[in-house]
Amino acid sequence: MKESVQAFLDLQTIDQKILSINKTINDKSGDIQNKKTAYKKLDEQINNTQEVLKKSKIEFDIRSSDLLALNDKKDNLSAKLQNVKSNKEYKALEIESRNYKEEAESQTKYLNAAEENIKKMEESMEVGVVDLADLKKSIKDMILTHKKEHEDSAGAIEDFKLEREKQVSAINTLEDGLPADQCFLEKYNKLKRLPNGDAMALMEEDTCQGCYMRVNTQLASKIKSLKRMATCTSCHRILYVED
Ligand SMILES: [Zn+2]
Repeated sequence: MKESVQAFLDLQTIDQKILSINKTINDKSGDIQNKKTAYKKLDEQINNTQEVLKKSKIEFDIRSSDLLALNDKKDNLSAKLQNVKSNKEYKALEIESRNYKEEAESQTKYLNAAEENIKKMEESMEVGVVDLADLKKSIKDMILTHKKEHEDSAGAIEDFKLEREKQVSAINTLEDGLPADQCFLEKYNKLKRLPNGDAMALMEEDTCQGCYMRVNTQLASKIKSLKRMATCTSCHRILYVED
């Protein structure tokens, strides 16, 4: 393989290593961010439940005292019923008493349901608070681990960057004095921002292995016969051939 092709492939290897370290760091940051979002959501849910619970308890107390008042009235009516003078009076009191009874029953039904509901909310809050504490701890752990890994990675990246500088200057030496169409460093540096950092593409059977498009015959034969690099007209990667 031509020396310059090998030099670029070596540079690509270094750049892909840097890329992969950065990707790992970003993935971990993303994980932490996701956990933080989950934490915020759960915290909001708990706060909302707390609000609803507070209101439900107030409503429960009001309705409980309403029920007590109703029961008092019902008792009074029962007492009155014992001492009625006329049939008419008795009937009127009886209707009134029945109304109070129905209302008291409906209030009791409501209170039972509300009590059940309050219990459920309290239970779900207890679970939520435990989950929240777990999440907080796991975020804290993740941040600590991440910090340590981040420091290690930063060191590794520094080493690779030094290696890269050496490789770049080797390529500069190789390209020194070559015509512009045979100099690829500038092009490569733009292409290395590709998601996988695969700026270099092998040409096999006249096809670019970066984008799988066919390379036109004239360009393909130039690459093959002169063992030169060239730009793929479809994806702009730097094409090369193996020996
Ligand atoms: Zn291509």
